[in-house]
Amino acid sequence: MPHDAPSQTRPVDARLNAAQDICSRNGAQLTPLRREVLALVLQAQTPVTAYQLLDQLKSIRKSAVPPTIYRSLEFLLENKLIHRIERLNAFVPCAEADHHHADAQFLICKNCDSVIEIEDCDVSDALEKAADRHGFTLNRAVIELDGICAVCTAKPS
Ligand SMILES: [Zn+2]
Ligand SMILES: [Zn+2]
Repeated sequence: MPHDAPSQTRPVDARLNAAQDICSRNGAQLTPLRREVLALVLQAQTPVTAYQLLDQLKSIRKSAVPPTIYRSLEFLLENKLIHRIERLNAFVPCAEADHHHADAQFLICKNCDSVIEIEDCDVSDALEKAADRHGFTLNRAVIELDGICAVCTAKPS
């Protein structure tokens, strides 16, 4: 599926409004708290952990406790607005929240921890077919790939 301008480059406000629309379509509510947590994930340059988010949230909401953050993250994950990078135990915003995807691939830079989400239908199809050959019903096909990003590769060592 071809993408227009990558949403990573869109301002946070625009992405928050887009998220609001997605939630309404899902019949879900992006409450002020959930919106704040999403804004924090969007503003982060690299994947953020729940504890980093909690720390940041505490500066806005003194009463924030771990369940506050976990429930919000759960909601954002369910509505495909963020992804969890298992390897880093951290969260990144979905690259193109407006699209519908059951699977995702992530390129994770070992050097700077940046994460690029790619959505390659050929990869997804190949995995589905491979699973099918084994009579395996695929629920989730998230792939995390290690390597060095273009920025770090270009840096003189
Ligand atoms: Zn995504
Ligand atoms: Zn890098």
